[in-house]
Amino acid sequence: MTNKMLKFIDIDGKMPSKRDATDRRDDFSEIYGDYLKDKANEQASRCSQCGVPFCQNACPLHNNIPDWLMLTAEGQLQDAYNTAALTNNMPEICGRICPQDRLCEGSCVIETSGHGTVTIGAVERYLTDMAWDEGWVEPLAPVQERPLSVGIIGAGPAGLAAAEMLRMQGWQVTVYDRHDRAGGLLIYGIPNFKLEKSIVERRVKRLADGGIEFVLNTEIGKDISFETLQAKHQAILMAVGVYNARALSVPGCGADGVIEALPYLINSNRRGLGDKVASETAKGKHVVVIGGGDTAMDCVRTAVREGAKSVSCMYRRDEINMPGSARETNNAKEEGVHFEWLASPKAIHDTDGKASSVRTARMRLGQKDASGRQSFSVIKGADFDMKADMVIQALGFMPEDMEAICPDLKLTRWNTIKTHPTKFETSVEGVYAAGDIVRGASLVVWAIREGRDAAAAMHAQLTAQLLLADAAE
Ligand SMILES: Cc1cc2nc3c(=O)[nH]c(=O)nc-3n(C[C@H](O)[C@H](O)[C@H](O)COP(=O)(O)OP(=O)(O)OC[C@H]3O[C@@H](n4cnc5c(N)ncnc54)[C@H](O)[C@@H]3O)c2cc1C
Ligand code: SF4
Repeated sequence: MTNKMLKFIDIDGKMPSKRDATDRRDDFSEIYGDYLKDKANEQASRCSQCGVPFCQNACPLHNNIPDWLMLTAEGQLQDAYNTAALTNNMPEICGRICPQDRLCEGSCVIETSGHGTVTIGAVERYLTDMAWDEGWVEPLAPVQERPLSVGIIGAGPAGLAAAEMLRMQGWQVTVYDRHDRAGGLLIYGIPNFKLEKSIVERRVKRLADGGIEFVLNTEIGKDISFETLQAKHQAILMAVGVYNARALSVPGCGADGVIEALPYLINSNRRGLGDKVASETAKGKHVVVIGGGDTAMDCVRTAVREGAKSVSCMYRRDEINMPGSARETNNAKEEGVHFEWLASPKAIHDTDGKASSVRTARMRLGQKDASGRQSFSVIKGADFDMKADMVIQALGFMPEDMEAICPDLKLTRWNTIKTHPTKFETSVEGVYAAGDIVRGASLVVWAIREGRDAAAAMHAQLTAQLLLADAAE
């Protein structure tokens, strides 16, 4: 092994510079800067190149992390990028928004031995941003043109990753999306301060330039029937995500000012993209966001940037039990968000129909339940009010009605689409599914992984179909 590695003993782990919280409250630009070249090499050199790379195992894409860290430490940056890109269609996006503390970095051996993790995500982002700058990200070039076609419903990370893999094999790929821009939650969910939209747009452009057709503003099941798609394409991938928001069901939740998280984030993202949006922002308002996941963190931090008077996050368990990324929670705290842990909404109070406060129950935690998480119960007589003229519900998402699109699809008890565990085929022949609509609300990196796996299965099936047709001639 090169003597450039194992430097974790002498060199401390360091993230790229982070903008000061008071500065970043005023705009939607990303909060982390880029590594300088020497710093990236130095940070990569902290990797211990351990025999069993737990980081690689914990990465849903099984990225060859130790290899590209060593190449980075040696200054072989193009090779490092090529290695990273072998297993990931969007390394610069994962480098920015994966909850690394729960994935690769959380399993890093030097982290678990108390030396502080190698900054895997930041190096991955650095390498791929450099690859774009240096022209190392090559145009999409199919190995050969193949006559059969694939229809992909949904231009989120699962659909885009699958589209790229299938197009690289030469299949004719059309991606349909009901939104006016491709990217799914990468473009209309995740805010700019975590992921600048130009980064998603250049990925989409590369796919379009490589021959993938995007049919936008088109909802399958409404604008075009599923049967029409089946008649047009030899295989279909459903990568439609989950968009049925869990709603509050407390007295007063119909008041003006009680809104859902995703439309709020979509409108904010649209403004950032230059669209004219009529809806109100959080400016000048007391905002309470209910929920403790990534969506809630994105809402509180968006409200801060929109100029809210106060922003609070209400969550029924405590900080340790929050489902969202600890890094994002810390970023929110730095930006001035108040956290009301162990608190649950009981009612929304209003003045003339407009939300004015949230009646809140104080909670206590109990024993772990069947899910492995601590149960919770209300502390009687400890209710209190939180001032709020905007209440944002960020309580999670469930699948929409998939049977309305295709009645023959078999669903799980969570209403996600049932697929073969390795082939990703649904109960309908030639129809595959991947991403959140299979796993339930999850992560971008898992959507990419499933998009890739489904594409591999579709490639095998289409190839067999072609061979059979040739043999029959
Ligand atoms: C606010 C928010 C923040 C998040 N932050 C993070 C984060 O920081 N890190 C992370 O890893 N994950 C994050 N996630 C989760 C992540 O975004 C998702 O797991 C991921 O985008 C799922 O990818 P997907 O391709 O399955 O679906 P999506 O990204 O949801 O894409 C599905 C696409 O299908 C389209 N579609 C749906 N139905 C139809 C139809 N009938 N016809 C045509 N088109 C249709 C939709 O318009 C959409 O574009 C976040 C999620 C949210 C909501
Ligand atoms: S894709 Fe995500 S989990 Fe995998 S190495 Fe990159 S940042 Fe870590």
